[in-house]
Amino acid sequence: MDGSICRKHSCHLCCLETEMELTGADIDRLENMGFSGFYQEIDGIRTLMNRDGRCFFLDRNNLCSVYADRPVGCRSYPLMMELETYEGFLDELCPHAEEFMVDPEDMIALHTIIGELEARR
Ligand code: SF4
Ligand code: SF4
Repeated sequence: MDGSICRKHSCHLCCLETEMELTGADIDRLENMGFSGFYQEIDGIRTLMNRDGRCFFLDRNNLCSVYADRPVGCRSYPLMMELETYEGFLDELCPHAEEFMVDPEDMIALHTIIGELEARR
């Protein structure tokens, strides 16, 4: 999704108290960059770690320190998917959700992410 909307509003709300789930490719990519200790695994579900309520990767300037390599879920947000119907929707917890445009490629990417995450459960 378009990060320019986040930058326009200087918003980093979804990087606070994040519960973003990570794919195996996310973990491999970030570990290969030298990071460790950035995720937790509970009941087989791997999510980003927070430190003092902030995502492990959120820097002092409230910017993502791994923006170009951020997890695929972070790239897709605020687009989410209803798991029973596989319909996409924009998360109402994002204060600027109505400004995001959803194109078919976003939905295809989200299907791929959800498919991988579901396969682990
Ligand atoms: S909450 Fe919405 S506008 Fe704010 S950083 Fe996240 S996606 Fe961007
Ligand atoms: S990885 Fe980056 S974009 Fe994703 S929650 Fe953390 S700081 Fe935000």
